[in-house]
Amino acid sequence: MAYGMGVVRGMLLTLQHVFRPAITVNYPEYQREVPVRARTNLLWFEERCTGCSTCAQACPDGCILVETAPRRDGTLEITRYEIDFRICMYCGLCTEACPYQAIQAGGRYNDAVYVFENMYRDRDALTAEAQAYLAGSGGVYPNGQSQEMNPLRTSIPTARSRVPVAGAGGPFGPQRLPGKLDRSSG
Ligand code: SF4
Ligand code: SF4
Repeated sequence: MAYGMGVVRGMLLTLQHVFRPAITVNYPEYQREVPVRARTNLLWFEERCTGCSTCAQACPDGCILVETAPRRDGTLEITRYEIDFRICMYCGLCTEACPYQAIQAGGRYNDAVYVFENMYRDRDALTAEAQAYLAGSGGVYPNGQSQEMNPLRTSIPTARSRVPVAGAGGPFGPQRLPGKLDRSSG
């Protein structure tokens, strides 16, 4: 190649792009629409969680902590549920492993923090995030279903007493089986 041709070709390429529409956007003034299935975040829905810990076992990074205590009626009380987003790689394995769609990919992506440790979310932070999401989506989960469309079905009553959820007093609220103790009393 003749001397200087590389520079000429590079400049021509640059000139081509000068006259093309920009492919970047002025974030945050303008924000692109996010695809529905994008793994923007992890949302944990306490009202669907049984405390089975399957998500924690599926996580290759070990960033999910689930701590439970048995109730007298056989259910598990979730005493701790925490996700360390400092080491989460958003692979989605936890969401695929959860049998009850209690943890799902979705939610906001503009959650950058100034303090690194703030990326560790305890159950209160996770619940606040999930409830804010549901408030904005009209009660529809990221997977496109609502509690009414896909109610939690388990063979035993589940631990869902901590946060007010849509339908908590109705057919999709805490389940009580005949012969079992009312978990809210134990
Ligand atoms: S998305 Fe992947 S790394 Fe993050 S908590 Fe779930 S399984 Fe772990
Ligand atoms: S989020 Fe799902 S897999 Fe994890 S403890 Fe709750 S029900 Fe089990």
